[in-house]
Amino acid sequence: MSLTRRDFLAASAMAAGGGMVRFGLGGEGGVGSGKPGQDALPAGSASGVCAGGESAAPSRQPAAQTPQGASMEKTLLFQRQLPIRYTVDIFVAGGGPAGIAAAVAAARQGVRVFLAERNICFGGMGTAGMLPVFMPFGNGEHLLAAGIGSDVLKGLGVSEKEARGGGVVIQAERLKRLYDDLVLQAGVDFTFQTELTAVEAAEGRVRYAVLAAKSGLFAVEAKMFIDATGDGDLAAWAGAPFEKGDAQGRMMAGTLCSLWTDIDWKRVHEGGRIPDQSRLPQAIQDGLFSLDDRHLPGMWPLGPTTGGGNIGHTFGLDGTDERSITKAVLWARKSLLEYEQYYKKYLKGFERMQLAATASQLGVRESRRILGDYVLVLEDFQRRAVFEDEIGRFSYPVDIHAPSPGLDAFKEYEKGFTTLRYKKGESYGIPYRVLTPRGLKNVLVAGRCISTDRPMQSSIRVMPGCFLTGQAAGVAAALAVQLQTDTRSIPIPELQKRLKALGAYLPNTPG
Ligand SMILES: Cc1cc2nc3c(=O)[nH]c(=O)nc-3n(C[C@H](O)[C@H](O)[C@H](O)COP(=O)(O)OP(=O)(O)OC[C@H]3O[C@@H](n4cnc5c(N)ncnc54)[C@H](O)[C@@H]3O)c2cc1C
Repeated sequence: MSLTRRDFLAASAMAAGGGMVRFGLGGEGGVGSGKPGQDALPAGSASGVCAGGESAAPSRQPAAQTPQGASMEKTLLFQRQLPIRYTVDIFVAGGGPAGIAAAVAAARQGVRVFLAERNICFGGMGTAGMLPVFMPFGNGEHLLAAGIGSDVLKGLGVSEKEARGGGVVIQAERLKRLYDDLVLQAGVDFTFQTELTAVEAAEGRVRYAVLAAKSGLFAVEAKMFIDATGDGDLAAWAGAPFEKGDAQGRMMAGTLCSLWTDIDWKRVHEGGRIPDQSRLPQAIQDGLFSLDDRHLPGMWPLGPTTGGGNIGHTFGLDGTDERSITKAVLWARKSLLEYEQYYKKYLKGFERMQLAATASQLGVRESRRILGDYVLVLEDFQRRAVFEDEIGRFSYPVDIHAPSPGLDAFKEYEKGFTTLRYKKGESYGIPYRVLTPRGLKNVLVAGRCISTDRPMQSSIRVMPGCFLTGQAAGVAAALAVQLQTDTRSIPIPELQKRLKALGAYLPNTPG
C-alpha cells in the first residue's frame, strides 16, 4: 500500500502561525523538485541519475513504486494537522558521525539546532551499526579530520599522532556516551526514536521536517536543513537529483556487523596473524559457504577476549528500500553461522568463540549520492585536487566493495583498493559545493551521501571523512542563518575562517 502526494503548502503556511502544520504525507520530493541539475556532470557520473525521486517524474511517493519502479500499488490520501513542536534555526536529520559533527559545529556558532535520530543512540554505523574501527583520521603526516574529529579522539583518549595514520578501535558504549556529552554540551535539542518521514518544500526551500516518533507525528520548522541520514533522505524528498550505484544501478554490498566473545587473541597473534580471509578459498572449495564471497574485512580485537566483526556481505542491497533491507538482514543473520564455522575450523584462536550480538542497524555502504553544485570525481583524487572553496582534505583510498559475489568481482575490488591509494602526506581537497544539493537553497548534505562519483563516495564515506563534511555543513548553515542568506551566498573565506577556529585542517586557505 502507498500514499499519494498532495500539496498542502498554502494550508501549512496558514496553520504554521498557530503552531500546527497541515501535512500531506506523500514521501519523496516537494514542490520545485524533479529538475535534473543544470550543471554538466563530469564524465562517468551520468549513470543511474534520478531527478527528484526514484522515478523520473517529480513524485513524492516512494511507496508507490515497486523496487523495479513500476507504479502498481494502491494508494491512500493521508492528511493530518500536526503540531510544530520545534521552531529552530537549523534542523539536522540523522545523528551519525556526519550529523553529530554538523549539529555540534552549528550549535557552537550560537544558533538553535534540533537533531532528530531514529535510533536510541548517536553514532550511526559506529555505534548502532557495531563497526569495530574508525579508519585513519589522517594521511600519516597530518590529522585531516581535525576539528570535531579531534574532540572525538580526545574524548576516546586516543592521541592525534596515533590516529593520523592508523585505525582507531571503537568501544561502542564509550563512543555513545561521548557523543551524548558532545551534543549536550553544545546545547543541541534532540530526541531519539525520531525519524524523518517527509519534508514540506516550495520553490527550492524546505520549510518543515515531518517526524514520526513514539508520541506520533510532529513537525519541525527551521531556516536551514542538514541531511545527515547517510541515504540522502531529506534532500531527495525535497527534490534534489541524485545517483545510485553503477551504470546498472548496482551498489556495494552491505554488512551486518557483529560482536563475538571467547576469542583467544594471544593464540590468534602467535607467529604473526594471518589475514582472516587467507583460508577462504579452501573453505569455499570445501563447500562451507552458500556464496563465493572472497572478501572478508575481518575481526578486530575490542577487549582481551572480545572481537568486533565486519564479516559477510549482503549482495543486491538497496539501502533506501526497507524490503531490500529486510531480506538482507535475514540473510546476514543466517550467514554468520557459516562464518562462525569458518573461524572455528580454519583459523587459530577462534575455536571457542561465540556470537554475542548482531548490530541493530544494517551496514549500508552505498545508496544515494545527492548531486550538488560540484561532483567530486576520481580525477580529483588522482590530481590531489586543491579547491578555492575547500572545507577539508582527505586521503582514504578508493574502497568499492563488490556488488556481487565471485572471484572476478573480488579481483576488481582488490585492484581499486590496492592501486587507488596515496603515499604518506598526500590528500585531496573537498569543495564546499559538494554539500549544496542542486535546486535547493536552504539544504546542505553531509556524510556518506554527498555529491561524488562512486570511487570518491567509497573514499569519503568512512567516518573521519563524515566528520569533515558534517562540521562544514554545520558551520555553513549557521553562517547562512546569521547572515540571513542562502547556502550559496555565504562568504567562503568566512566559512573557512570559522572552520579553522574549530580546528579544521585547511592548509590551502589564506590566514
Ligand atoms: C559494513 C560497513 C563497514 C564500514 N567500515 C568502516 C570502518 O571500518 N571505518 C570507518 O571509518 N568507516 C567504515 N564504514 C563507513 C562508515 O561507517 C559510514 O559510511 C559512515 O558511518 C557514514 O556516516 P553518516 O553519518 O553519513 O551515516 P550513518 O553512520 O549511517 O549515520 C546516519 C544516522 O542517521 C540516522 N537516520 C537515517 N535516516 C534517518 C531518518 N530518516 N530520520 C532520522 N534519523 C535517520 C541513522 O539512524 C544514523 O544514526 C563502513 C560502513 C559499512 C556499512
